[in-house]
Amino acid sequence: MTQTATPSSKYEAVIGLEIHAQLATKSKMFCGDATDFGAAPNTQISPITLGHPGTLPKTNEKAVEYAITMGLACGCTIEKNNYFARKNYFYPDLPKGYQISQHTTPICVGGTVSIKTSKGEKKIQLNRIHLEEDAGKSIHDLSATSTMIDLNRAGTPLIELVTEPCLHSAEEAFAFVTEIRKLVRWLGVCDGNMEEGSLRCDANISIRLQGEKKLGTRVEIKNLNSIRNIKKAIEYEIERLIQINETGGIIIQQTRSFDSNNDTTFSIRDKEDANDYRYFPDPDLAPLHLTDEWIDEIRKKLPSLPNELQKQWVNSFHLSEYDVEQLSEHKEEAAFFIQLTQLSKHYKSIANWILGPIRSYLNESNATYEKLTLALPYIAALIEMVETNQLNFSVASNKILKEIIDQPQSPLMYAEQHNLLQSNSVDEMEHWVNQVIAKHPDKVNEYKKGKKGLIGLFVGEVKRISQGKADPKLSTQMLEKKLAN
Ligand code: ADP
Ligand code: MG
Repeated sequence: MTQTATPSSKYEAVIGLEIHAQLATKSKMFCGDATDFGAAPNTQISPITLGHPGTLPKTNEKAVEYAITMGLACGCTIEKNNYFARKNYFYPDLPKGYQISQHTTPICVGGTVSIKTSKGEKKIQLNRIHLEEDAGKSIHDLSATSTMIDLNRAGTPLIELVTEPCLHSAEEAFAFVTEIRKLVRWLGVCDGNMEEGSLRCDANISIRLQGEKKLGTRVEIKNLNSIRNIKKAIEYEIERLIQINETGGIIIQQTRSFDSNNDTTFSIRDKEDANDYRYFPDPDLAPLHLTDEWIDEIRKKLPSLPNELQKQWVNSFHLSEYDVEQLSEHKEEAAFFIQLTQLSKHYKSIANWILGPIRSYLNESNATYEKLTLALPYIAALIEMVETNQLNFSVASNKILKEIIDQPQSPLMYAEQHNLLQSNSVDEMEHWVNQVIAKHPDKVNEYKKGKKGLIGLFVGEVKRISQGKADPKLSTQMLEKKLAN
């Protein structure tokens, strides 16, 4: 069957993303002011942040380390000879009248980030990652007549990560930003909280006819502050550009904004190609020369990355793609999984325990993995007990797990004290099975006439009257045998 060409199938979307991530340093990029989110307005602003005459900025070593960490994790080349440049422009929330950025020497060059899409894995090429400082905040919705300025954020260290124009759908952009958020959190270089503005994204979008090599005129959507909005904004914009082209209009280079009230974008300004920011090297900051030793030191401290762990777990533990992806979502959970695999070899069961009962426990008690540290060996022992049929899974997960976490203790002792051990005693089993058979003569009849599905009901009854102590495998076998004649 041939498909009718829809307007959108004639075109290819081309997307390049610029992601700003606030680095998780205690102090600002070029001075000691705190970077705490949510502090009272204009309380974290020394004369250096405000750019008063005579003040001298000083580079924050931790911020540089974090930028290098991110670059190494993405396979970038690290630029050893850096300098900072002033990007001059006027804006009320830019107290100095310029932003310190890196113009021609981004600290990280090239590199890739792998994403998973419905069409498989794809490597997204990075253009660069550079260091810069954030501006303050203009708040327009507190007063009907004035704009409020909070300069606390001014001077907060940022990395700006810029991709090549190599993404081709809203889905890919969604996957990419999700991956970046996961990566910065994993590395501990940024908290990744988009709702607090720690991670922000600008999306550059153009369209071209399928097969065309030349890039089309792009529009840039500024300051997307949630991954869902990034996807919606790009979807809307691709359709809008196609419509313009299809109706004979001309696409102009524009800066646009996303309106989350109706999922559309609107123009903020037409953008000239060459912005005249009059960049020049900041005369107050010495060039930053990085040594190979320091870069190597940072490289040695890099944790194993989620993608590496996933491959390792598929290969050595034979876990499914789904499991390894879930288990490498959060660093603390991954670490806990690794610790459990050192205590028990039932890898698949460990994965199931973490993704099932352990996650539920943490959710319900609003706790973190830190709370589980003391209980780690006991949880491993609990998993072993289920694997060796000493406990049944539902008793272990519903009745014992919580007890041995809240008060770290041996699951064996707990189970003995509370009479929860699974029974392997034939006499005891026989007693429960006989009781159930005697209690349900009608069902037994139906079963014998061929309604074999009733076995589940009998096994459930045995489980109930034994208070979970009957091993379901054993009781099934015994029931089947007794009901067969
Ligand atoms: P600027 O200096 O205006 O920010 P850059 O050349 O640094 O422009 O590019 C910014 C982002 O825009 C990059 O992610 C780049 O991949 C992307 N980009 C550039 N041209 C296009 C285009 N025609 N279509 C889509 N994305 C583009
Ligand atoms: Mg830009």
